[in-house]
Amino acid sequence: MLATTHVIIPLVIADLIRDYFLKHKHRRLIPRRYIFFVGVGGILPDIDIALAYLFNFLSIELPRLLRHGRITHSIFLVLALLIASAFLWSGTKFSKGPSKKEHHSWFLISILVAIGVLAHILLDGFAGDTTPYYPLSQAVAFGAQRINQQLMISIDAVILLAWLFHEEWHHNIKKFF
Ligand SMILES: [Zn+2]
Repeated sequence: MLATTHVIIPLVIADLIRDYFLKHKHRRLIPRRYIFFVGVGGILPDIDIALAYLFNFLSIELPRLLRHGRITHSIFLVLALLIASAFLWSGTKFSKGPSKKEHHSWFLISILVAIGVLAHILLDGFAGDTTPYYPLSQAVAFGAQRINQQLMISIDAVILLAWLFHEEWHHNIKKFF
């Protein structure tokens, strides 16, 4: 699946949810610039493509689990990130001052990256090229319905346009209040 799809879809959806569905007090806890990390998470699983090049370049055999679509496209990676987020969240409860702030920042980063990674795994899972339950199962889950790449490009374009429209409208509206 295209890198743009993996970045645009979770990034835009997270931004829209933040703007329209969060209460003001919650929105304040998630500064807008942090939404960027959903996009980072959205592209992160495809790091296995970069690793494959690197290993090839260094003439080292690529470990099985690092082959494309394996461990980096597994829901267990999301689970690990969520566990890390939970620890960081409890860190915000038991710390004070600058340490509390730092825990909060890292909590936000880990959970937003986890959301992006999950979106990537779901999208690739539907495209049918990855094994989302790796290493427990080699099953190519939800692979029955392959998403057509041409269709994804049009969806990217529509989402991007809707988002630009929202940006224009939302921020112009704010000027009046
Ligand atoms: Zn992928």
